[in-house]
Amino acid sequence: MKIVINEIPLEGLDINLLEQRNFESLRTISPYELTVRILKKGETVSLSGRVKCKIELQCSRCLGSCIHEVNSPLEIELRPLREINEEGYYELQKSELDVGFYTGGVIDLDDIVSEQLFLNIPMKPLCSTECKGLCPKCGADLNKNVCTCKSKELDERLKVLAKLILKER
Ligand SMILES: [Zn+2]
Ligand SMILES: [Zn+2]
Repeated sequence: MKIVINEIPLEGLDINLLEQRNFESLRTISPYELTVRILKKGETVSLSGRVKCKIELQCSRCLGSCIHEVNSPLEIELRPLREINEEGYYELQKSELDVGFYTGGVIDLDDIVSEQLFLNIPMKPLCSTECKGLCPKCGADLNKNVCTCKSKELDERLKVLAKLILKER
Protein backbone atom coordinates (compact mmCIF):
# COMPACT_ATOMS: atom_id res chain seq x y z
CA MET A 1 0.00 0.00 0.00
CA LYS A 2 1.30 3.43 -0.94
CA ILE A 3 0.66 6.58 1.06
CA VAL A 4 0.77 9.95 -0.65
CA ILE A 5 2.37 12.28 1.86
CA ASN A 6 0.38 15.32 0.79
CA GLU A 7 -2.79 13.41 1.58
CA ILE A 8 -1.87 12.70 5.20
CA PRO A 9 -4.27 14.80 7.26
CA LEU A 10 -3.01 17.09 10.03
CA GLU A 11 -4.44 14.85 12.72
CA GLY A 12 -2.56 11.88 11.32
CA LEU A 13 -3.58 8.66 9.70
CA ASP A 14 -4.30 5.31 11.33
CA ILE A 15 -3.68 2.31 9.16
CA ASN A 16 -4.58 -1.31 9.80
CA LEU A 17 -3.45 -3.60 7.07
CA LEU A 18 -3.68 -7.33 6.61
CA GLU A 19 -1.95 -8.23 3.41
CA GLN A 20 -0.57 -11.33 1.80
CA ARG A 21 2.74 -10.44 0.24
CA ASN A 22 5.86 -12.27 -0.68
CA PHE A 23 9.01 -10.30 -0.31
CA GLU A 24 12.25 -10.89 -2.14
CA SER A 25 14.26 -13.66 -0.47
CA LEU A 26 11.87 -13.76 2.42
CA ARG A 27 9.24 -16.46 2.62
CA THR A 28 6.16 -15.22 4.37
CA ILE A 29 3.68 -17.86 5.40
CA SER A 30 1.00 -15.58 6.74
CA PRO A 31 -0.37 -12.23 5.67
CA TYR A 32 1.44 -9.42 7.34
CA GLU A 33 -0.42 -7.37 9.86
CA LEU A 34 0.54 -3.74 10.11
CA THR A 35 -0.95 -1.38 12.63
CA VAL A 36 0.53 2.04 12.30
CA ARG A 37 -0.10 5.66 13.07
CA ILE A 38 1.33 8.03 10.49
CA LEU A 39 2.00 11.64 11.40
CA LYS A 40 3.36 14.44 9.29
CA LYS A 41 5.43 17.24 10.76
CA GLY A 42 6.63 19.55 8.06
CA GLU A 43 8.31 17.24 5.62
CA THR A 44 9.10 14.61 8.20
CA VAL A 45 6.77 11.67 8.40
CA SER A 46 6.77 9.48 11.46
CA LEU A 47 5.36 5.99 11.67
CA SER A 48 4.68 4.33 14.94
CA GLY A 49 3.05 0.98 15.40
CA ARG A 50 3.59 -2.73 15.17
CA VAL A 51 4.17 -5.32 12.50
CA LYS A 52 3.37 -9.02 12.71
CA CYS A 53 4.10 -11.76 10.25
CA LYS A 54 5.09 -15.41 10.15
CA ILE A 55 8.10 -16.19 8.06
CA GLU A 56 9.79 -19.42 7.14
CA LEU A 57 13.50 -19.66 7.79
CA GLN A 58 16.10 -22.38 7.72
CA CYS A 59 17.17 -23.81 11.05
CA SER A 60 20.85 -23.05 11.58
CA ARG A 61 21.44 -26.44 13.21
CA CYS A 62 19.47 -29.02 11.25
CA LEU A 63 18.82 -26.96 8.09
CA GLY A 64 15.16 -27.92 8.26
CA SER A 65 12.49 -25.31 7.90
CA CYS A 66 11.48 -23.33 10.91
CA ILE A 67 8.77 -20.82 11.43
CA HIS A 68 9.58 -17.52 13.01
CA GLU A 69 6.92 -15.14 14.13
CA VAL A 70 7.87 -11.50 13.87
CA ASN A 71 5.94 -9.34 16.26
CA SER A 72 7.85 -6.15 16.46
CA PRO A 73 7.22 -2.56 17.37
CA LEU A 74 7.96 -0.11 14.63
CA GLU A 75 9.22 3.44 15.09
CA ILE A 76 10.43 5.10 11.96
CA GLU A 77 11.05 8.63 10.86
CA LEU A 78 11.13 9.36 7.18
CA ARG A 79 12.54 12.45 5.54
CA PRO A 80 12.61 13.52 1.93
CA LEU A 81 15.68 12.18 0.22
CA ARG A 82 16.68 15.51 -1.35
CA GLU A 83 17.99 16.75 2.02
CA ILE A 84 21.00 14.58 1.35
CA ASN A 85 21.67 16.16 -2.01
CA GLU A 86 21.43 19.76 -0.83
CA GLU A 87 23.93 19.32 1.95
CA GLY A 88 26.09 16.89 0.09
CA TYR A 89 25.84 14.59 3.06
CA TYR A 90 23.39 13.93 5.77
CA GLU A 91 24.32 13.46 9.36
CA LEU A 92 22.02 11.17 11.21
CA GLN A 93 20.86 12.46 14.52
CA LYS A 94 21.21 10.25 17.51
CA SER A 95 17.75 9.06 18.18
CA GLU A 96 15.76 6.11 19.33
CA LEU A 97 14.03 6.13 16.01
CA ASP A 98 15.05 4.51 12.80
CA VAL A 99 15.53 7.20 10.23
CA GLY A 100 14.76 6.55 6.62
CA PHE A 101 14.02 8.49 3.52
CA TYR A 102 11.25 8.79 1.02
CA THR A 103 11.27 9.93 -2.55
CA GLY A 104 8.59 11.24 -4.86
CA GLY A 105 6.28 12.26 -2.03
CA VAL A 106 5.13 8.69 -1.52
CA ILE A 107 5.69 6.10 1.19
CA ASP A 108 5.42 2.45 0.29
CA LEU A 109 4.24 0.53 3.33
CA ASP A 110 5.24 -2.79 1.75
CA ASP A 111 8.86 -1.61 1.66
CA ILE A 112 8.69 -0.56 5.27
CA VAL A 113 7.24 -3.89 6.31
CA SER A 114 9.84 -5.91 4.39
CA GLU A 115 12.63 -3.87 5.96
CA GLN A 116 11.23 -4.45 9.43
CA LEU A 117 10.89 -8.17 8.80
CA PHE A 118 14.51 -8.38 7.65
CA LEU A 119 15.64 -6.52 10.72
CA ASN A 120 13.83 -9.02 12.89
CA ILE A 121 15.26 -12.21 11.46
CA PRO A 122 17.28 -13.96 14.14
CA MET A 123 20.99 -14.42 13.37
CA LYS A 124 20.77 -18.13 14.04
CA PRO A 125 17.23 -19.35 13.56
CA LEU A 126 16.35 -22.54 15.36
CA CYS A 127 13.44 -24.89 14.66
CA SER A 128 13.40 -25.56 18.38
CA THR A 129 15.70 -24.63 21.24
CA GLU A 130 16.12 -28.38 21.68
CA CYS A 131 17.15 -28.96 18.07
CA LYS A 132 19.95 -31.53 18.05
CA GLY A 133 21.24 -30.48 14.64
CA LEU A 134 23.11 -32.62 12.17
CA CYS A 135 25.83 -35.08 13.04
CA PRO A 136 29.11 -33.39 12.01
CA LYS A 137 30.45 -36.77 10.84
CA CYS A 138 27.69 -38.43 8.84
CA GLY A 139 25.24 -35.57 8.40
CA ALA A 140 22.29 -37.45 9.89
CA ASP A 141 19.52 -35.29 11.26
CA LEU A 142 19.84 -36.14 14.92
CA ASN A 143 16.27 -35.04 15.59
CA LYS A 144 14.99 -37.88 13.41
CA ASN A 145 17.76 -40.46 13.39
CA VAL A 146 20.24 -41.79 15.84
CA CYS A 147 23.55 -42.36 14.16
CA THR A 148 26.35 -44.45 15.62
CA CYS A 149 29.16 -41.90 15.17
CA LYS A 150 29.13 -40.75 18.75
CA SER A 151 29.10 -44.19 20.30
CA LYS A 152 31.87 -45.34 17.91
CA GLU A 153 33.95 -42.37 18.94
CA LEU A 154 33.36 -43.25 22.53
CA ASP A 155 34.35 -46.88 21.90
CA GLU A 156 37.62 -45.73 20.33
CA ARG A 157 38.36 -43.45 23.21
CA LEU A 158 37.66 -46.27 25.64
CA LYS A 159 40.01 -48.56 23.70
CA VAL A 160 42.81 -46.00 23.94
CA LEU A 161 42.11 -45.63 27.60
CA ALA A 162 42.12 -49.39 28.07
CA LYS A 163 45.52 -49.61 26.36
CA LEU A 164 46.91 -46.91 28.62
CA ILE A 165 45.65 -48.72 31.65
CA LEU A 166 47.21 -51.97 30.43
CA LYS A 167 50.54 -50.24 29.80
CA GLU A 168 50.61 -48.84 33.28
CA ARG A 169 50.16 -52.21 34.83
ZN1 LIG B 1 16.62 -27.57 13.74
ZN1 LIG C 1 26.73 -39.51 12.64
